[in-house]
Amino acid sequence: MSKIIVAGTAYVDQPCPQCGSKRRISRTWKETLPTFTGTTVVKYSQIVCTNNVCQLAFDKQLLKDTQKRKAIKLKKEANDAARKANSLRQAKKTRKNKSRI
Ligand SMILES: [Zn+2]
Repeated sequence: MSKIIVAGTAYVDQPCPQCGSKRRISRTWKETLPTFTGTTVVKYSQIVCTNNVCQLAFDKQLLKDTQKRKAIKLKKEANDAARKANSLRQAKKTRKNKSRI
């Protein structure tokens, strides 16, 4: 048995928190998610601001955030690689020291 969960639509009647304009649903889609008892159909709605300037600013901010997250992830991966290389070097050094004893 599957049940339908509606996510997101509850807030469409509320004004935009940024500019106070009306908001509308730009698109809806359904996703079937597996659960312990079977599947659940989750209905999603993407809500956008009817104020184009506000929505554009929001999109820009979203893009910025995505790029920022990507940059942080890349930096972290580089750090991890450097740390790994460093620990390998340390291990080699230790091995060399031990062989001398
Ligand atoms: Zn707005």
